[in-house]
Amino acid sequence: MNPRLPAERPPTPPVGYKIAHPVLSRDLARAGFLGVALGGQEPYAVLDDARCVYGRRHRVPSRRCDCGFHALVSRAGALGLTCTAEHRTAVLLEVAVLGVYLRYELGFRFARQRVRTMTVGCCPCLGRTTLLADAGWGRPGWHAMEAACGGCVRGRMALTLADFARLAGQGLSVLRAGQVTQAQAVS
Ligand SMILES: [Zn+2]
Ligand SMILES: [Zn+2]
Repeated sequence: MNPRLPAERPPTPPVGYKIAHPVLSRDLARAGFLGVALGGQEPYAVLDDARCVYGRRHRVPSRRCDCGFHALVSRAGALGLTCTAEHRTAVLLEVAVLGVYLRYELGFRFARQRVRTMTVGCCPCLGRTTLLADAGWGRPGWHAMEAACGGCVRGRMALTLADFARLAGQGLSVLRAGQVTQAQAVS
């Protein structure tokens, strides 16, 4: 990157897209997200600050480290990541890129993030998603959740999309894929 390029000062935060797994805390009190690549060990909240995944003490993002929040410019590009087998149950997030960011050809690496909307795909049976159910894996203290229709929950711990939004807080919108978002409705 050319250090002489002028710094960007956009009037509104850039928008980015990424995929993640919704997670629910073991005490069922908090909801958040787990990234799918670097930083996928530690869940993040709707509004959160990036911490160096290597535990180094430096400001994020740093040109000498690859840590920080990551997002793509393209919604379709992020959605394409859910085609791979291990990411089939991931959800699509639209995020506001806050704080300091580095811009790349395809996206951003940045310091602070607000998740605006989470878009959930259909149940693996292709039925209409009504719940997020325990996906059968997680991180210490956190259950990973996946989309499920009423018929596929089968006794698993589950919560509604509205309950997930309420627990995640900070004004998160949760949509089903195919629902028109507010942003699309006004444009
Ligand atoms: Zn770092
Ligand atoms: Zn189903």
